[in-house]
Amino acid sequence: MKNMNIKTNQQGILEFSGKSVVELAEKYGTPLYAMDEMMIRNRLKTFNQAMKEAFDEKAEVLYASKACDFLAMYRLIKEENCGVDVVSDGEIFTAYKAGFPMEKAYFHGNNKTDSEIRFAIEREVGTFVVDGEDELETLNQIASEYNIVQKILIRVTPGIDPHTYEAVSTGIVDCKFGSALVTGAAEALTHKALSMDHISLQGFHCHVGSQVFDGEVFMKCADVMFCFIKEISQKFNYECLQLNLGGGYGVPYVEEDPYLDIEQILMRVGAHVKRLCHLYDIKLPQILMEPGRSIVADAGITLYRVGSVKKIPGAKNYVSVDGGMTDNPRYALYRSKYTMRCANRMNEEASLRCSVVGKCCESGDILQENVLLPDTVQRNDIIAVLCTGAYNYSMASNYNRIVRPAVVMISGQDEKVVVQREKFEDLIKNEL
Ligand SMILES: *Cc1c(COP(=O)(O)O)cnc(C)c1O
Repeated sequence: MKNMNIKTNQQGILEFSGKSVVELAEKYGTPLYAMDEMMIRNRLKTFNQAMKEAFDEKAEVLYASKACDFLAMYRLIKEENCGVDVVSDGEIFTAYKAGFPMEKAYFHGNNKTDSEIRFAIEREVGTFVVDGEDELETLNQIASEYNIVQKILIRVTPGIDPHTYEAVSTGIVDCKFGSALVTGAAEALTHKALSMDHISLQGFHCHVGSQVFDGEVFMKCADVMFCFIKEISQKFNYECLQLNLGGGYGVPYVEEDPYLDIEQILMRVGAHVKRLCHLYDIKLPQILMEPGRSIVADAGITLYRVGSVKKIPGAKNYVSVDGGMTDNPRYALYRSKYTMRCANRMNEEASLRCSVVGKCCESGDILQENVLLPDTVQRNDIIAVLCTGAYNYSMASNYNRIVRPAVVMISGQDEKVVVQREKFEDLIKNEL
């Protein structure tokens, strides 16, 4: 793990982005999400730059906003000249309210409702990433009512398992997203789209999964997609203008996880894509990629205050904190690993094996098992969970009527609250 923004100061206290996390916890309360603005900006800049070097000047980064989205994030993405993926009317609304240039928004989802389609058209969302036939027909119909021609990409299921990168396994064709290549669905959808008056097909999209650590996966995707593009161009005399190769770049959550050199991968994919274009005699389309997690994950940490510490002789030890599955449901959902530190006892040996659990009335409310913390850990200590910038705030809930934490953004010396802690009044504001 290369957490460049994490260190221990002389008092044995964890610092995040140059700030004592104990002071942050005291100042803003706990649980607290803290995010490092410079790190997010640097990631976006690096990605943007590498994309342009690997492909060409037109290449574009779309931040998959579901990883972490609020007004300040959309403003930041706008300032870094990236586009965004949005997956619901709520995300479109938030981006729009943030003043995001909506022509750079790509609307994803396997089940866009009629009202979402209308909402997106009214907010002038640039491109729909169309999942299937009924969406295409509905979109063409609604676009005709608005008398517009809507730009789309078709989401193709390339049949690649990102964790074995085996092509065309039915298991992966069996997926709720996209139109499969092997079944002919993608081609049929393309044919249909090309015949529609209110649809302008810009190209294709694929995204094979998340936490991909093997760069070969993106090369395989390019292989499959360019082969498809070649077929389509011959059959329909169609020039593909855009190809979106998805996101899913893996990030290290724990020491054992590998570190992915994204710049190096992009260079290799770039060279490969150019070879394929040459081989198939295709003009290089604009290449898009959609990193989410890899932009924000290690730019965020969560701070909690310890409550009860329960050591059960002959059984487990439990350290309870003042948050839990409401602010980070990922362990409960899919056993995600995290690195945890007792932030005010960084110089003490971590010898107590324990489960760090939340405060919800739910036995499954576990943040992590088999964590090592100092044996002295006690009430009012601060626990920091690293690498929580992605899919934590955006997945938070109000279960047990627990208010969602604040998000504080640190930028050099400055810190600002970009999302306030919810108030009790917020919990009942829609209730009659
Ligand atoms: C979620 C998602 C991404 C981003 O995935 P990460 O693992 O966060 O990089 C990209 N594209 C699509 C279509 C997605 O659904």
